[in-house]
This record gives sequence, structure tokens and C-alpha cells, in this order.
Amino acid sequence: MNKNPNTEKAKMSTDRKQASGKKIVVALGGNAILQSHQSGTYEEQIANVKKAAKEIVKIIRAGYRVAMTHGNGPQIGNLYIQNSLAGEAVPPMPLDACSAQSQGMIGYFIQQEMLNELSKHNIDLPVISLVTQVQVKASDPAFKNPEKPIGPFHNQKEAELLMQKTSLVMKEDSRKRWRRVVPSPEPIHIVEKEVIKSNIEQGYLVVASGGGGIPVIKKKDGLMGVEAVIDKDRSACRMGIEINADILLILTDVDRVALNFNTPKQKWIDRMILKDAKKYLAQGHFKEGSMKPKIQACIDFLENGGEKSIIGTLFSAYSAIQGKSGTTITKEL
Ligand code: ADP
Ligand code: MG
Repeated sequence: MNKNPNTEKAKMSTDRKQASGKKIVVALGGNAILQSHQSGTYEEQIANVKKAAKEIVKIIRAGYRVAMTHGNGPQIGNLYIQNSLAGEAVPPMPLDACSAQSQGMIGYFIQQEMLNELSKHNIDLPVISLVTQVQVKASDPAFKNPEKPIGPFHNQKEAELLMQKTSLVMKEDSRKRWRRVVPSPEPIHIVEKEVIKSNIEQGYLVVASGGGGIPVIKKKDGLMGVEAVIDKDRSACRMGIEINADILLILTDVDRVALNFNTPKQKWIDRMILKDAKKYLAQGHFKEGSMKPKIQACIDFLENGGEKSIIGTLFSAYSAIQGKSGTTITKEL
């Protein structure tokens, strides 16, 4: 008897819900979606997201319940450059609006590639990305000391001219290149938390808090966007805690976490316990603005109910979950 392909497909498909296994927040690095050696074309970003989607679908097929978030460093940097260069033709948008734009663009890439990969496995699962605002404190010390570099590099003369003509703050890096720096305040609350939670409870695949979330402060008359960027690792941790996730999986462009990174004594780490992670953090093994916020996120997640935090690459996410790659951090061994 001939098999009816539609009945076959219906049999294999899920009931539009994820399984009820362990809940995992997967954070995709903005630097992995748009890699430093790439120019940032549409095709490059789609291809990277496609590879990530293959891995994440393996995780879903293994029975985990996945919620996703992503970074936007290189993408918001590019939007900022576009706004700066085209300012005479089109009014430039502030950073909170650029953050919303990047959430829309990257969220769309993820939605499309996840749906494509899910359908290859006959999994009929709704995927939704949510424009997400994240509240920060107006009194956060980061507003007085902006440190997160963004946008194009300048020489000293250009940087000084920009600082004279505008209110922008520019800082020099270790390679004598000047760049605008903006505040990176701590996320205190995910404004759309209830919508995220209810979509996850429905069993849907939710992408939220992209790029660390759109930074907003609470004023007497309501919420207002601010000129800042939130570190996506800190927000991913917040999201993990707020949705009671079991695992936080941070996917970036290095396979593992190293001690004495980029020195002759460099040592890659497979497993770490919480106590040691805190010790290594205090000893300064993790670079400010890149690995340090990831380790801090892993620590906070474990101290607030999380079971396991993992850092690995975008392209071997499934083996990282199995403990075959990446760096796994747990409370005890
Ligand atoms: P993402 O976009 O994923 O957040 P980041 O560039 O912020 O990417 O963070 C990943 C980078 O962290 C790596 O490319 C690596 O250069 C850097 N890094 C700093 N310290 C360490 C460390 N101790 N071990 C591994 N990588 C480190
Ligand atoms: Mg980063």
C-alpha cells in the first residue's frame, strides 16, 4: 500500500509545541552571526544563522525547550555608521531605535532559518521574535562612565573634532584607535517579560531581548529609550532567571573559555565549578566587554536557580550541551 505523504508528515510533526524537557536559554553572539573577518553582507549573516539553526534544531529534537536571544554588536555598529553617513539625507535615529531595528532584522533571520530547519525535520513549531524593551536605572554608574565602544574607528584629530562639535564621548583603545563609547548599564527588568513567558508556556520558540534589549528608563510619565547598549550576556542571564530556565547556553566565536587568554600560558577549560569561576574572574582572566560579561552571566545564573551554564561556539552548540565541547560551569562537579 502506498503511504500518503501528508499523513506521514502529520504523524511525524509535533503538536506545535516544544517538548517539556529542560528549559534552556540559548544566546547567539552578534560577533558569531557577523564574524570579524566578514564584511557583514546579508548573505553572510543568513549563512551563519543557518548553521546555528541546524545546531539549535538538534537541541530541540533532543527534547529540550529552547528560548533564544542574540547579540547585535557588529550589526548595531553598522546601523550607527549608516545613520552617521546618511545624516544629511535622512534624520539619524538614536541608539534605542537602532537597537529595535537590529532586533527586527536579526529576529527575522532567526525566525526564517529556524522555520526552514524545523520543517526539514517535519517539526511544525511556531517561532516568534519579540521586540523587547529592557529597563535600566537612570542612576546606573555606566551613564557617568561610558565604556562600550561602538561604530567606526577614528584618528585622534577626527575624534577630538567630533567631541568639540557634538556631545559624543570618544576613547582611545590599546592600538591608538579612537571610537565612540556609550554607557552599558545593567538590565534590571525585562518589560515584556509576561509576553515572553506566556509564549514559552504555549510551547512556542521565542526569540527575545535581542542585542541585550532596547534600553529604557522609567520616567514619571512612562518609559523612555536611552542612548546606551545593554550587554546581551547580562540580559540573557536576566531572561534565564525570569523564565526559570535550567540551562544558559552562550554561543560565541571561541570554542572554549581560556585561562591566561592570548598568552603563552593559555589553557582551555572544559569544566569549571562556580567557586573557581568566581576566583578566575577576580584574577582577571576574562576580558572586559567580551568574556567577562559571559562569565558574570554564568555565575549569576547559577546563583539564582540555574543548574548549568555553558559557553561554546555557535557551530557546535549541540555537542556543547552534551559536554563534548565548550566550557561547562556548574555549582559542584
Ligand atoms: P559575542 O558577540 O559572542 O558576545 P565577544 O567578542 O563579546 O562575542 O566575546 C567573545 C570573545 O571573547 C572571543 O572572541 C575572545 O577573543 C574573547 N575573550 C576574552 N577573554 C577570553 C578568555 N579568557 N577565553 C576565551 N575568549 C576570551
Ligand atoms: Mg559580546
